[in-house]
Amino acid sequence: MNSGQLSEKMMGLVLANGEMKRVVDVRSDTVTKPTDAMRVAMAQAQVDDDVLCSDPTAATLQQQMAKIMGKEAALFVPSGTMGNLISVLVHCEVRGSEVIVGSNSHIHVYENGGISTIGHVYPHLVENETDGTMDIKKVEAAIRPSGGDDMYYATTRLICIENTHANSGGRCITAEYTDKIGELAKHHGLKLHVDGARIFNASTALGVPVDRLVQAADSVSVCLSKGLGAPVGTVIVGSHEFIAKAKKLRKTLGGGMRQVGVLCAAGLIALNDMVGRLREDHKNCRILAESLNAIDGFHVRLDAVETNIVFVDLSVDSAFGAEELCEAMKEKGILFMPVGHMRFRLVTHHQISEDDVRYAIACFRDISVRLQTRRKIT
Ligand SMILES: *Cc1c(COP(=O)(O)O)cnc(C)c1O
Repeated sequence: MNSGQLSEKMMGLVLANGEMKRVVDVRSDTVTKPTDAMRVAMAQAQVDDDVLCSDPTAATLQQQMAKIMGKEAALFVPSGTMGNLISVLVHCEVRGSEVIVGSNSHIHVYENGGISTIGHVYPHLVENETDGTMDIKKVEAAIRPSGGDDMYYATTRLICIENTHANSGGRCITAEYTDKIGELAKHHGLKLHVDGARIFNASTALGVPVDRLVQAADSVSVCLSKGLGAPVGTVIVGSHEFIAKAKKLRKTLGGGMRQVGVLCAAGLIALNDMVGRLREDHKNCRILAESLNAIDGFHVRLDAVETNIVFVDLSVDSAFGAEELCEAMKEKGILFMPVGHMRFRLVTHHQISEDDVRYAIACFRDISVRLQTRRKIT
């Protein structure tokens, strides 16, 4: 079975009569399944107890990631959520810490408030602009006065930014912006954490090496299980001291894993073989964005589509909502996520070909007309 057949089998839904139904799953880049090369590497991985000593494959992945990101050390953790939680908690280990974080950031919106509920870290929200950044003046204004005989304020210890910024549609944060935030942090004695779940998408789209993008960061979390296609895992990077503390915290949180090389072997393939092809996801996403924007009643902010995520807004007078559209498209095998009532999101990844994109667009055209006219008749 060649890889084409295998991925076809993975992508298709086998019907009761044994026929394949075409499925285009653009819900997220987290739906990616391990490639054949990953499965082979996983089967052959050299492993050992990574809690008792060190798993050789985990060690290799961590060394490579640290080098690529331009940091001293790295640590493999089970998820991006745990990577961010550990990073924030290491930087804010003293009780009474406050972190400046975007109001629309993954850490704030989608991580169960873990930095507070588990870490006792207080979030100070700064509004995210539509491009995913936070106004630097607003960030500066959010830094609490400290020292003297202050009796009122939590102590600001950390700033978090996100690159690419998921909720703004996968927009890239530039090296220059990150440098400025880094300077501000340094000036006030704060640390900077970059939630770089999709940092390689940013690097690809901006044409800037990842280590340059995160040069000003004290720590970065990088997802292997999004567009890079690994089944599991995030790597956090930072100084030796940061990683030593992170390792202890990972164990506390139950993230110390034994023969973890099985997972890291897939991570190594993700890092070495999958980064170079992200440009194709971006190209396919652009085709989706432009073609969907051309459909009656669909609106895409084309200048906001920079990587592999596209948000589509329905016209205010649309006869159908995003949930209804999503349900109707499911019958055609097109899977995506509604974001509220009038908006939906699509994410391209390595299992989505240009042909899949064209097929999805044709289905969107058909279904939107069907829903529109059905409503007019009734
Ligand atoms: C997916 C994601 C995470 C969390 O990753 P999980 O592995 O799903 O926990 C963190 N930040 C951003 C920006 C993400 O997109």
